[in-house]
Amino acid sequence: MPQLQPLFTPEEIRDTIERLAQEIKRDYQGKNPLLLGVLKGSFMFMADLIRDLDMPLEVEFVALSSYGRGRKESSGKVKVVRGLRTPVKGRDVLVIEDIVDTGITLSFLLKYLQLRKPASLKVCALFDKAPRRQVPVPIDYLGFSIPDAFVVGYGLDYDEQFRHLPGLYCLKEGS
Ligand code: 5GP
Repeated sequence: MPQLQPLFTPEEIRDTIERLAQEIKRDYQGKNPLLLGVLKGSFMFMADLIRDLDMPLEVEFVALSSYGRGRKESSGKVKVVRGLRTPVKGRDVLVIEDIVDTGITLSFLLKYLQLRKPASLKVCALFDKAPRRQVPVPIDYLGFSIPDAFVVGYGLDYDEQFRHLPGLYCLKEGS
C-alpha cells in the first residue's frame, strides 16, 4: 500500500491561494485576463483561485502530458492532448500550473503561447520543486516551494489516484 506523508493542510493551501489572489487582483486591475489552466492537475487550484478573484476574467484549459501511466518521472516529451480553443492573440494570459518540476512542460507551453502573440504572458504555480529544474522558467506568482519529493493530492495524482485529497502529501519511496 502507498504511504502518504502530510506536507500541507487544506487550510495552509487555502491561505496561500488567498494570498496569490490578492497579488493577481492587484496586478490585473482593470483587465480581463485569460486564466489558462494546465490539465489535469490544475483543476482544483483553478476552481479555488478563481473563487477568490473578485474581478472580470475568463477561464480556459489546455491538456499537456509528459508522464506515462503509473510513472513518477517525466518522459521529457510533452504532448498537447487538448489544444487551445480560445484565441490568445492580444490577451493577458495567466498560466495556472499545479506544479513545476523539471520545467520542461511549462517551457514548452510558454513557447506554444508566445507564438500566438498574447499581450502579456505570466505564470502562477501553486507548487515549485526548484531543486529539480532542468529548464529555467519564470514563475510570477508562486504558492509553495517544496522539496524534491513526489507529491499527490489537491488535484495531483499518482496513476490517476489521490487527486481528490484536499491536502498535499508526499508519496513515500518504496510504495
Ligand atoms: P515538469 O515538466 O516541470 O517536469 O513537470 C510538470 C508536470 O509534471 C506537472 O504539471 C505535473 O503534472 C507533473 N508532476 C511533476 N512533479 C509532480 C509530483 O511531484 N507529483 C505529481 N502528481 N505530478 C507531478
